[in-house]
Amino acid sequence: MNGYLIDMDGVIYRGEHVVAGAIEFVSALQARHVPFLFLTNNSQRTRLDIVIKLRRMGFLDIEERHVFTCSIATARFLRSQKPNPTAFVIGEGGLLSALNHFGIGITDKDPDYVVVGEGRTVSFEVLEQATRHLANGAKLIATNLDPNCPTAHGPRPGTGAIIAMLERASGRVALGIGKPSPITMRLARKELGLRTAQIIMVGDTLDTDILGGVQMGYQTVLVLSGGTLIEEVKLSPFLPDYVVESVGTLAKHLDADGSILLDPMRGTERDSHRDSLVLTGGY
Ligand SMILES: [Mg+2]
Repeated sequence: MNGYLIDMDGVIYRGEHVVAGAIEFVSALQARHVPFLFLTNNSQRTRLDIVIKLRRMGFLDIEERHVFTCSIATARFLRSQKPNPTAFVIGEGGLLSALNHFGIGITDKDPDYVVVGEGRTVSFEVLEQATRHLANGAKLIATNLDPNCPTAHGPRPGTGAIIAMLERASGRVALGIGKPSPITMRLARKELGLRTAQIIMVGDTLDTDILGGVQMGYQTVLVLSGGTLIEEVKLSPFLPDYVVESVGTLAKHLDADGSILLDPMRGTERDSHRDSLVLTGGY
């Protein structure tokens, strides 16, 4: 049996719109009892927030156990590093509740860590406090290093942008936890309870989803329903195993054990007889 790690934005929805075929893809996994996790670098929302959004969009049988966020990975990582850690937090509900759930105390007095996620509540005053905690020895943790986040009106600064400012101000370098970090990629695999060879990572971004999967030795599927163009794949130093228009293609080519019934990539031209794009000289 295989198991899937599935990015969300650009893969199963874009903004408020469901990607065509995405509900069929998730239904096809569930009909075959193929385990899967939605794996997101969004640290703002809790598992429950995400479940509510997905159900509203028509993914009716989704539960909290189907969702894994970089906030959960961050909290689990910090707890594994230090007993009773404390953190000064720049972020929103999803991050605060994950830290709380895993027993990490939130404080503005001598924190062990400065933990940063994306959000709209960041202010210069908060950045100033964080910089002082770093100067006093707190360690800098990024829930993810994404430079920006897509919105309906265009990009807005992401966690990576806030981190860049704190790194510059403090002279320190952050540890990034979300995709493509092996910390998150490995925790997600363990959550599914599967081995490396059984994992298939599906995403729309080369530098996070696909790189994260390639580093771990997972099978990878790039979908072109998000922000990545096929021309960028040709220039990338690492390649996905499959490139498809969307997860709707996967829904039509899924074996009983969840393996993908498409030829891996071999060329850059779309072959009219196949649904998967193929790369010449691919690995
Ligand atoms: Mg995405």
